[in-house]
Amino acid sequence: MTSVLFHSEKSAFVFDSLLYPDDTRILLQRIREQDLAVRGLVNTHWHIDHTAGNQLFLETNRIISHSLCGDLMRTEGKDDPDWANRELQLGEEDRIRPTYPNETIVDGSVLDIGISEMKVIHTPGHTPDSVIGWHEDEGVLVAGDTVMEIPFVGYGNSRSLIRSLKVVQSIVKDDGKIIQGHGGVYGSERLTDDIRYIEEVRKRTTEYLDSGKRAEEASAGIKMEDCFSKERSKFLNDRFGSLLWCHPSNVQRVYEELRSERP
Ligand SMILES: [Zn+2]
Repeated sequence: MTSVLFHSEKSAFVFDSLLYPDDTRILLQRIREQDLAVRGLVNTHWHIDHTAGNQLFLETNRIISHSLCGDLMRTEGKDDPDWANRELQLGEEDRIRPTYPNETIVDGSVLDIGISEMKVIHTPGHTPDSVIGWHEDEGVLVAGDTVMEIPFVGYGNSRSLIRSLKVVQSIVKDDGKIIQGHGGVYGSERLTDDIRYIEEVRKRTTEYLDSGKRAEEASAGIKMEDCFSKERSKFLNDRFGSLLWCHPSNVQRVYEELRSERP
């Protein structure tokens, strides 16, 4: 997972607080070594790998998110800290204690990040509370998980994600950079392929629904290779094997979404 830091000579502004306490501590140590005051932290969405480090940011007194983020941390995310504490074998000092945002942003909010201003845009799809940050002067977009190596709707809605990716596409011009919540930094050239992938998953899942097949049959039968180009599938298989589970999870989620829309 990725944390993004913007800084001036005096202050720092951070997007996402990471999952592992040691990683968050290294980030904060770097900030302190340069004598920077933390001006604020934005959570791009509620997932624990973007919010677990919030507890180490308390001195900033500004943890900022969409209003749904805190709600979803309290409801959907309530089991995750237990899972993480167990899986990561965290000791008492490191135990993840959910620390909720205390300041909300809405679509179009402008943040003063110290060196300049940054616009926040609500981009539901990966999750309902997802936001992105757009630094127009630098042409840098902080995407959180709205842009992923495999677009991922496992906690959200595919129709919303298509709409949000089109918003990203309309903002990031040719030389702009997209910083993903996981994986690499890209330009906007890949977004058309991302949108086509979700549309293809929707189309093929619709065929399974129409023929009365179950969700499990759809997620077993619809292969990632059928929904991406050959080159993209190869790239993902070669470089991001640990993310391949996102595809069957997408099919499952899209199946439930499409079924719920039927009378
Ligand atoms: Zn996420």
